[in-house]
Amino acid sequence: MHDHPILNHLRSRRPAMIAELKRLVEHESPSHDKPALDALAELLAGRLSELGGAAQVVANPGGGNHVLGRFPGPEENRPALILTHFDTVWPAGTLARMPAREQAGRLFGPGVYDMKASLVMLFGALEYCGRLGFKSPRPVTALATSDEEIGSPSSRSLIEALARDCAYVLVLEPPLADGGLKTARKGVGRFTIEIEGKAAHSGVAPGSGASAILELAHQIMKIHALNDVKAGTTLNVGVVHGGTVSNVVAARAVAQVDVRATMLDSAARIDQALRSLKPAISGTRIKVKGRFSRPPMERTPAIAGLFDRARLIGRGLGIELTEGSTGGGSDGNFTAAIGIPTLDGLGVKGGGAHADDEHIQIDSLPERAALLAALLLNL
Ligand SMILES: [Zn+2]
Repeated sequence: MHDHPILNHLRSRRPAMIAELKRLVEHESPSHDKPALDALAELLAGRLSELGGAAQVVANPGGGNHVLGRFPGPEENRPALILTHFDTVWPAGTLARMPAREQAGRLFGPGVYDMKASLVMLFGALEYCGRLGFKSPRPVTALATSDEEIGSPSSRSLIEALARDCAYVLVLEPPLADGGLKTARKGVGRFTIEIEGKAAHSGVAPGSGASAILELAHQIMKIHALNDVKAGTTLNVGVVHGGTVSNVVAARAVAQVDVRATMLDSAARIDQALRSLKPAISGTRIKVKGRFSRPPMERTPAIAGLFDRARLIGRGLGIELTEGSTGGGSDGNFTAAIGIPTLDGLGVKGGGAHADDEHIQIDSLPERAALLAALLLNL
């Protein structure tokens, strides 16, 4: 790691950053707790305006409010968009058994890694940019949402609308285990296959019924035949229900299917194939519900190009960036799918996301903040 003004400055702010991170972890913020989320949104908006941004709380009547901050830069250039979220998967009261605590160079606590450390890292980067009078090549828009962990139902349209006007998107989700950035993510779909048949006494009048269970069995075979593991397309019928008692021809059967795809066109193909399933047995009907809640984030040439530039900027700080892909989704899936170059996994190194040993590596906090500042000042 080099001696570099950005790194030196952010390392000097390390104690303040740790203190702020502890305060954020101690402000619990489960995805469904509107009062807690709204209070945290106010606090974050206050921080963004202290840092020189035009901050705004975006009201969300159906869930926690979101926070938007706009920072100055040459208006003739399209802005950079930074995505963060402040909801966590942890229920209120988790702190009692998992307090925020420092141990052996790590900071533990609920939501510390996914992704409260990213908020502190964002503040550190913006503070540095502000010191230089926001000399970045473009304005910076920072969005902190309250519903990422539940699939971003209320923030998706806001994220997509903001991204459409931006040059690129930086997502501060946790990195790969080795600190690598995420330049590809699988898309995730959940579908329900409902079969309607016709009940009949299985002993007295079997011919007058139509078995929904037998029909579902046919459909399950067709669905599993759509698997293409090499191409990264996987379908799994994980749950089946159906029938009432053994001597009645089943009138109803249901299957739940999880689908993952690496490419937008394979996601569309699977979506189409599921929607056009045809009954194999006369007298039954098929109803398909569901969709890809997060489209695949493909490693397009534009994303590869953005990563290459980020890698050079990282090298200037003595940070050797790597990249990789992951099966999980994030808000980066939305922005990449509408064609905006997106780099994900820029968050702080650590481990145990959504697990009891959730933690960050404290040394990584000023370093990733320095990397983010350098990206904003150079990309
Ligand atoms: Zn996250």
